[in-house]
Amino acid sequence: MNELLIRKNIIKFSKLLNKTNLSPLRSGNISVRCKNGFLITPSGMKYEKLKTKDIVFVNMKGEFNKSKNKPSSEWKFHKDIYKNRNESKAIVHCHSKNALVLSCIRKKIPAFHYMVAVAGGVDIRCAKYATYGTSQLSRNIITALKERSACLIENHGQVSFSNNLENAFELAQEVEHLAEQYLECLRVGKPKILTNSEMNKVLAKVKNYKK
Ligand code: 13P
Ligand code: ZN
Repeated sequence: MNELLIRKNIIKFSKLLNKTNLSPLRSGNISVRCKNGFLITPSGMKYEKLKTKDIVFVNMKGEFNKSKNKPSSEWKFHKDIYKNRNESKAIVHCHSKNALVLSCIRKKIPAFHYMVAVAGGVDIRCAKYATYGTSQLSRNIITALKERSACLIENHGQVSFSNNLENAFELAQEVEHLAEQYLECLRVGKPKILTNSEMNKVLAKVKNYKK
């Protein structure tokens, strides 16, 4: 995909953050790997108003053109995910309601349902809290993402990555559904958690699930 198409695609999915209720108002951010860096949503702008020129290029050293829009305040964790995880090509960060609620009671999503495996492991961890936009938050997220492609972030929300933007967005939606279902289980009782050996069977199967 050429750079202009990537910019258009970022705008399309940014608007969907609001339209699908994945992230309200100006919250959340989206990026796609491009050349020797990545293209990312600007900080604090309304998604509805975004133009292709508003999307910001940041290189892998964290440099960007200071005379243009500021990149998302979370550009550090986007950069570090691309640096640490070769397979990551697109990232969606959002403040989806149920993931956010779980993150505020500082709970991970355990294997209450086999679909937890879509994030790559036996659970979806919750990254330790740090102030938004900081290198510390980035380090905490990289730790929580070990062998996973999504995690919650304490008192904040969630982040997902994948091999393209469509899949990263779908994974963020999946994490939100799982968070909603897990919260419902907690309301009515104590959900039975699947064993690691059962989840390992599921993990082997889900690799071939998506067509
Ligand atoms: P930005 O508008 O700077 O991307 O901030 C939104 C956000 O979710 C920060 O965590
Ligand atoms: Zn955020």
